[in-house]
Amino acid sequence: MMIQYPDLKDKKILVTGASRGIGKELAKALAAQGAHVLFNYRGDQEKANALKSELEVLGGKASALQFDVTNMAQMKVAIDSFIAENGNIEGLVNNAGISKDALLMRLKEEDLNSVIDTNLKGAIMVTQALSRNFMKVTGASIVNIASVVGLMGNPGQAAYSASKAGLIGFTKTMAKELAPKKIRSNAICPGFIQTDMTDALSGEVKDAYLSQIPLKEFGSTEQVANLVCFLLSSASSYITGEVIKIDGGLYI
Ligand code: NDP
Repeated sequence: MMIQYPDLKDKKILVTGASRGIGKELAKALAAQGAHVLFNYRGDQEKANALKSELEVLGGKASALQFDVTNMAQMKVAIDSFIAENGNIEGLVNNAGISKDALLMRLKEEDLNSVIDTNLKGAIMVTQALSRNFMKVTGASIVNIASVVGLMGNPGQAAYSASKAGLIGFTKTMAKELAPKKIRSNAICPGFIQTDMTDALSGEVKDAYLSQIPLKEFGSTEQVANLVCFLLSSASSYITGEVIKIDGGLYI
């Protein structure tokens, strides 16, 4: 069930990593709210055009921006030229993320670098690229997609959990730094959500997770999208610096 947030209509909201998984579901949910959804794509223009059409059919406007979150120059050009043509962006969801799992002893430096560059530095740089723009709009909202493993740790996920814990620290700093301008910054911590990222795990790992989840089921991208829509809307206008778990009780 999707709750309608009338103030999201026509709001320009950038969702990174919307080609699939949580980001795509969120882009669809925002389009259904009538938002103007901006999403980045890395190379496949045909796929980006298809997503743009899909979002427009759902009721929103959509714009595809070509950038990789690890490429600052490319990101800045894409964001600045969108703003110059269309005006200020009112919301941001730092969702793009990767995981490269290995026990610390086997963790490769290149994997550590790419996970931190994408999940943490990428989110910081996209937020920075938008910060001047946010100063000019009222009630801007930033949502960072962290993870429960950023709170509780997980063997084999040193790089990933560190990147997500860093993102939580960044979220709280932004909440304090940007509050004078009424810009809110929150993080959500999904547990196990069914997407390509988790499909890559072995049946054994999935069973082990399931046994630890009190609700005894994996989460859906729709459930995550609902929470993010709430945090982007004025229904959550007094919530900032918050870290909300959406994990079926996994963290308890
Ligand atoms: P997916 O692997 O399904 O999708 C990841 C998305 O991020 C894709 O759109 C991908 O684009 C994009 N992306 C990756 N690297 C970059 C980059 N350098 N620049 C731009 N875009 C990039 O992931 P999920 O939907 O499962 O996860 C989304 C977020 O939620 C991530 O931050 C993840 O860490 C977090 N999360 C997920 C959980 C889960 O259980 N699924 C649990 C907790 C947190 P492309 O198609 O070009 O590769």
